[in-house]
Amino acid sequence: MNLTAESHRIPLSDGNSIPLLGLGTYADPQKTPKGSCLEAVKIAIDAGYRHIDGAFVYFNEHEVGQAIREKIAEGKIKREDIFYCGKLWNTCHPPELVRPTLEKTLKILQLDYVDLYIIELPMAFKPGEALYPKDENGKFIYHETDLCATWEAMEACKDAGLAKSIGVSNFNRRQLEMIMNKPGLKYKPVSNQVECHPYFTQPKLLEFCRQHDIVIVGYSPLGTSRDESWVNVSSPPLLKDPVLNAIGKKYNKTAAQVALRFSIQRGVVVIPKSFNPQRIRENFQIFDFSLTEKEMKEIEALNKNVRYVELLM
Ligand code: NAP
Repeated sequence: MNLTAESHRIPLSDGNSIPLLGLGTYADPQKTPKGSCLEAVKIAIDAGYRHIDGAFVYFNEHEVGQAIREKIAEGKIKREDIFYCGKLWNTCHPPELVRPTLEKTLKILQLDYVDLYIIELPMAFKPGEALYPKDENGKFIYHETDLCATWEAMEACKDAGLAKSIGVSNFNRRQLEMIMNKPGLKYKPVSNQVECHPYFTQPKLLEFCRQHDIVIVGYSPLGTSRDESWVNVSSPPLLKDPVLNAIGKKYNKTAAQVALRFSIQRGVVVIPKSFNPQRIRENFQIFDFSLTEKEMKEIEALNKNVRYVELLM
């Protein structure tokens, strides 16, 4: 695949397209100074990023929106140059909550539409103020909803122009099929955002999604921040991998750049998170080299089939 920074978008099934590289914006709000996300998104836009991945539950969407609006005001970009992905949280699955939830996100962003709106997880929590509702025993309180009805409300958001495209996240094949086989389906999911990197390559899901024209967006493409509160750190650190480092040496690239290049070369969109100016720029320098077929196979063989993000909820 010939990928340059200029042509780094891939088509979506609804006629829109998605940049192959985006900036992830999840950072623990307790440990991250206010304004870090704002600065990171502005640096990323200056470095050439046009795709930003965010969510209401990251608690920094206001900073993402501010960064985009400041860059538009500066004349650096136009709104249509930017691809922003927002997410519908688990407490908002009942169909009547979907549009108001997206409208709330748009109000926080101070934007008129998102480019992609996705159902963040296939399971629902009890609706209400608590984002992680728990009972007196500390157990999550789930909520029975019909994912197909939630999807119909997502379709209505697209029809209303509030989201240019709609997709899902953390869906397995069965859950994707449930939506795609829904009677009266108007739009199928254009993308499925899932964990994907050299240690968790998702060959079966990738093949299924390829067959059905669903783009895989790979989260944690660098192997996460290894925050023990939500990451399975028994799986070794991806960026210390000897194969990734050896291949990187050959091209004068880092293990991170090799891991990202591997994914985009397989047609997987990557959304590495960095709030560090140097690493934000480093992660964008993946369009000026390519991996050989042999190297792609070598990296594919690193797959351990172990998730860093176990989503034990
Ligand atoms: P990631 O992008 O794999 O890794 C982020 C970590 O790597 C941060 O600690 C970052 O630190 C560091 N890093 C970034 N660039 C680096 C480089 N070139 N060299 C060395 N270290 C580097 O992990 P992630 O944040 O879990 O995933 C990325 C994004 O995916 C998230 O931010 C979020 O937008 C999305 N996501 C979605 C879901 C979902 O359920 N849909 C789940 C998880 C994540 P610095 O900031 O200090 O550079």
